[in-house]
Amino acid sequence: MEYDKNNIFAKILKGEIPCKKIYENDYVLSFHDVNPQKKIHALVIPKGQYTDLDDFVQNAKEKEIYEFFKAISHVAKMLKVSNVDGGYRTLSNIANNGGQEVPHLHFHIFGGEKIGKMVS
Ligand code: AMP
Repeated sequence: MEYDKNNIFAKILKGEIPCKKIYENDYVLSFHDVNPQKKIHALVIPKGQYTDLDDFVQNAKEKEIYEFFKAISHVAKMLKVSNVDGGYRTLSNIANNGGQEVPHLHFHIFGGEKIGKMVS
């Protein structure tokens, strides 16, 4: 799938749309989900233009991949939901069957309460 440069997360990265920022470095941006499904619902996205996890793993540099996954854990610590703070769930929807709505790779972080069933 070709990357859509006008998707909503691309606009957030360009500063055209605001977000409730949690964390940012040269490789990633993290912000609160606009429609939280749990007490804590954050998103972590790479700054590079990747549609989903498969695109990312195939095309990103190892440093980008390393920084991305490190950032997910870092944000969980920042939000006090890490493994020593009760824990959390992370998930990434991929393409149609995965239910992906925004075509820029993102991992969700859910926490702050019991997350419940793995899938519905
Ligand atoms: P997905 O189905 O994995 O693509 O989920 C996309 C997520 O992006 C949903 O949880 C939306 O609530 C969230 N979302 C959409 N637009 C925004 C926005 N402008 N700021 C923050 N989160 C957003």
